[in-house]
Amino acid sequence: MTTMDLIPADAVPRFQTRPDGGLDIDTVYTRCPQCGIVATSTGVDYAITAGGDFDPGEPVELACPAFHHYRVTVADFLPRDASCFCVRCGSPIVVPATADQVVCLTCRLYQDGPARPTDAVSHFEAADALSRPPKLPSNGDPLEDDQARRTRSAGTRQEGLDAS
Ligand SMILES: [Zn+2]
Ligand SMILES: [Zn+2]
Repeated sequence: MTTMDLIPADAVPRFQTRPDGGLDIDTVYTRCPQCGIVATSTGVDYAITAGGDFDPGEPVELACPAFHHYRVTVADFLPRDASCFCVRCGSPIVVPATADQVVCLTCRLYQDGPARPTDAVSHFEAADALSRPPKLPSNGDPLEDDQARRTRSAGTRQEGLDAS
């Protein structure tokens, strides 16, 4: 387990925005409803305001490290209630105490979170097994849909909402 200190639940905001007003997805931690991993998202879709900023009043679509897709609201973002240190640059990182994987906001390195179990390999193998698409009758192609979604990079915004 990574060394960490607990801090009050809402001492830091549950998310941060980038200088351009977009959501900094590396600050958003949620628990995947399918595999239970607590981590940042591998992809995101969110609404923006007329001014082009992240709109916290609308649902956000996220994907866990095993590429399960789910929709949440800002209320579902986990409180960042623990502080640990980046294994590469030593910067403090504020994350949920329950996080399996975290991101350093200074050097953007993905690394084990404070709650990643000692038996992490089996934990993530279990998540990977869950992530395999179910064998469904071919009335749709979940793989193709998944691939298309994976191409979205963090910070992608929905288009068409900007009134200007
Ligand atoms: Zn998942
Ligand atoms: Zn770092």
